[in-house]
Amino acid sequence: MNTNSAYNLKSKDAVKPIYSITPFTLLDYPDKTACIIWFAGCNMRCVYCYNPDIVLGKGQLTFENILSFLKKRKSLLDGVVLSGGECTMHPQIAHITKEIQHLGMKVKIDTNGSKPNVLKKLLDENLINYVALDFKALEQNYFKITKSSLFNQFKESLKLLIQSLIPFEVRTTIHSHLICKEDIQKMLNFLESQNYSGKYYLQEYVNNAKTIGNIKNSENKFIQDAIFKSKIEVVVRN
Ligand code: SF4
Repeated sequence: MNTNSAYNLKSKDAVKPIYSITPFTLLDYPDKTACIIWFAGCNMRCVYCYNPDIVLGKGQLTFENILSFLKKRKSLLDGVVLSGGECTMHPQIAHITKEIQHLGMKVKIDTNGSKPNVLKKLLDENLINYVALDFKALEQNYFKITKSSLFNQFKESLKLLIQSLIPFEVRTTIHSHLICKEDIQKMLNFLESQNYSGKYYLQEYVNNAKTIGNIKNSENKFIQDAIFKSKIEVVVRN
């Protein structure tokens, strides 16, 4: 069984933590022009993960490479998305977000929520401006999907974000062979029980992608017409 420490970063990965950059996106940071920094490595192995090369591969770029890129693009970018992989695993993350903010850009992190202590530091020191938190599954399905036992850490991260003033979203990737409609209803009930009141984004798994678990295709659009009972607004993203 994988644990919290199963995928520790080797020191050379910490020196070159970044796998690649997507120079421009209008889709990944709400209402902002942004670039995406893809961090190598992850402490989960989600079977539907679209980024096996990033999760299993080595970093290619130093943070100095990234800073130099950002300085040249400053006038075009409102924000920077730190994605991966899992950006909160990287020892330099607080330094990186601080430097990006010093350039005048907002920072969004995409996280699986497995590092609540790191998230707390980023929140306490105002080093991030937006968070997209992955809600992979409830505890009973967590290992099946992520091959990790990090549900309690996710739950702690959710609690920290609910208590914070920072804008954030909760999202789940839906694959029909892994999560059924009843599971989604239970996940909504869980979010309500935690006093989450934002939108809940459901992202349908895109078939025919190369994935970590080499999983079968998902049944097409199986949640499009689903009706859930919740005060939380459910938004289906294609
Ligand atoms: S989908 Fe899972 S394995 Fe892939 S980067 Fe996200 S948390 Fe890591």
